[in-house]
Amino acid sequence: MKNLIINRFAQTFTGEPCIYSSAGRVNLIGEHTDYNGGFVFPGAIDKVIMAAIRPNGTDRINAVALDLGEEATFGLEEEDAPTAGWARYIFGVAREIQKRGGKVGGFDTVFGGNIPLGAGLSSSAALESCFVYALNDLFNDNSIDKFELARIGQSTEHNYCGVNCGIMDQFASIFGQEGKLMRLDCRSMEFEYYPFNPEGYRLVLVDSRVKHELKDSPYNKRRESCERVAAALGIKTLRDADMAMLEAVKGDISAEDYVRARFVIGEKDRVLAVCDALSRGDYETVGAKMYETHQGLSHDYDVSCEELDFLNDIARRCGVTGSRIMGGGFGGCTINLVKNELYDEFVKTAVTEFEKQYGHKPEIYDVVISNGAQKLK
Ligand code: ADP
Ligand code: MG
Repeated sequence: MKNLIINRFAQTFTGEPCIYSSAGRVNLIGEHTDYNGGFVFPGAIDKVIMAAIRPNGTDRINAVALDLGEEATFGLEEEDAPTAGWARYIFGVAREIQKRGGKVGGFDTVFGGNIPLGAGLSSSAALESCFVYALNDLFNDNSIDKFELARIGQSTEHNYCGVNCGIMDQFASIFGQEGKLMRLDCRSMEFEYYPFNPEGYRLVLVDSRVKHELKDSPYNKRRESCERVAAALGIKTLRDADMAMLEAVKGDISAEDYVRARFVIGEKDRVLAVCDALSRGDYETVGAKMYETHQGLSHDYDVSCEELDFLNDIARRCGVTGSRIMGGGFGGCTINLVKNELYDEFVKTAVTEFEKQYGHKPEIYDVVISNGAQKLK
């Protein structure tokens, strides 16, 4: 990929570019916890966006999206916003840096990557993080701190791409390190690295390639349930609740709100249990917690779907150590922690049985926890 990018840069532009990359991400555990002030537990993966970039001394950005075979040229002022979706990520990052008093000049760039688009691995955050990291290095002497870089990516999604996302994806892409997951506290924004070197296991995503569009915004409804229970408890978010507190207000809240909150509170405890287990290198417990999360997401939080439950069942039947929905639910991937010796059998079974049932093959993505944003040359 690097050579393709460099060669295309040499064909299209002049001079010697610098090379940057940033990564997609997985979230091992901690789902629907961010808006409840809880923990998420992501890591950067070995699938990246890579860009060759060279300042061109003008006030224009000339960009080539190698994978799409598209080009775009645009300025740096608000009215210069490009129309192409992919270019808006680059433009947005440049604008958000300027809004914060940072500098951005014109540049030439060729970029590409190997993160599947829209599969839940956050290719968009990787794209933003690659460019924000590069522009901080090329135009700002790396004076913008890393958390601000992540926030610039998040604001880009909000203000230029119409996606009202949290901070996890950009955080993971910017801060990710090889062999380390990060437990991010979404209340305090403090985080801690935990070693993730599952020797003898592989981490594999099975992408159902279904996305159920649902009526009446289930995400908002889940949020509202959480807010109602927090209000009944007299606390700001469910982060501050435990099971005993929930039991105490059971009579004052609806049965539905009760099970929603039961998932969120349980998920906080599961993240902490996984951290403990990782500190001991106990990947069997990690896996057991992943299954518990899946059960909770499916039964209590009710954000699974038939296809994801099907994949989770196959994993369980194949003896896979851990398996769960990754992401908000209603489609997308399961993330699976699989013993090496079971890997081939599991993948074969998942692909064959899923296709037989649903008429199309799921995609399989092997991932290794790797570095996030970095300069390569
Ligand atoms: P994801 O879950 O992968 O983040 P999004 O819909 O948020 O899905 O982001 C995907 C968008 O990011 C694409 O439509 C495209 O605009 C941009 N993108 C991601 N990867 C690439 C790439 N390799 N080349 C060009 N654009 C890309
Ligand atoms: Mg995205």
